[in-house]
Amino acid sequence: MSQIKQHLIKIKAKIYHAEIAAEREKGSVRLLAVSKNKPLASIVTAYQAGQRLFGESYLQEALQKQQALAAFDISWHFIGPIQSNKTKAIAANFSWVHSVDRLKIAKRLSEQRPKHLPALNICLQVNISNEKTKAGVMLEELPRLIDEVVELPHICLRGVMAIPEPNTEFERQCQPYRELYKTVKALNLATLDTFSFGMSGDLKAAIAEGSTIVRVGTALFGERL
Ligand SMILES: *Cc1c(COP(=O)(O)O)cnc(C)c1O
Repeated sequence: MSQIKQHLIKIKAKIYHAEIAAEREKGSVRLLAVSKNKPLASIVTAYQAGQRLFGESYLQEALQKQQALAAFDISWHFIGPIQSNKTKAIAANFSWVHSVDRLKIAKRLSEQRPKHLPALNICLQVNISNEKTKAGVMLEELPRLIDEVVELPHICLRGVMAIPEPNTEFERQCQPYRELYKTVKALNLATLDTFSFGMSGDLKAAIAEGSTIVRVGTALFGERL
């Protein structure tokens, strides 16, 4: 068995145990395989082991992979920083975008989404570490941005994404997710059903705090060089 397949089995077991520990429904957390900086062969191996959702951070790299894997039934998620000049290609080539953090980008994605495709699913990236330099809308500004983005016709606002500062302590990993989850739930919008929380190092905490999709790179594909 390939190493990637072994890792995949382990990660799925970990997700399952975290769902049980959090008294969550079995299968309520999906796995996004983060394949940035990883070769095509790794994606193919994970695909052959049953993985269908893949996340990429760099547009040119992603487009090349998509072209090579056009025959595969993959759901592509864009999770990297977005400059305005990239929105057109992102809108045309992905089914999800997790890293939208301002209205201007959301508007462009909506306008540029090809009309023959279903609405583009998006998550708003929220800065929950309160570092001014980090990407993401500040928590205080999130409700207003949500109000504006839900009106856009060709994108479907599904929820939020966050990348907290790394921490090895479980309770500290939980805390920022908890606050964001509460803020979103308080808005009472039924269509916001997605919490893109958790990476290789904090899966369990993220699932305890409501994650519905975890973004895993290193634990699946190994260290990125
Ligand atoms: C790279 C990346 C990940 C994966 O991180 P790992 O620690 O390798 O699991 C998840 N989310 C985003 C936004 C990333 O850029």
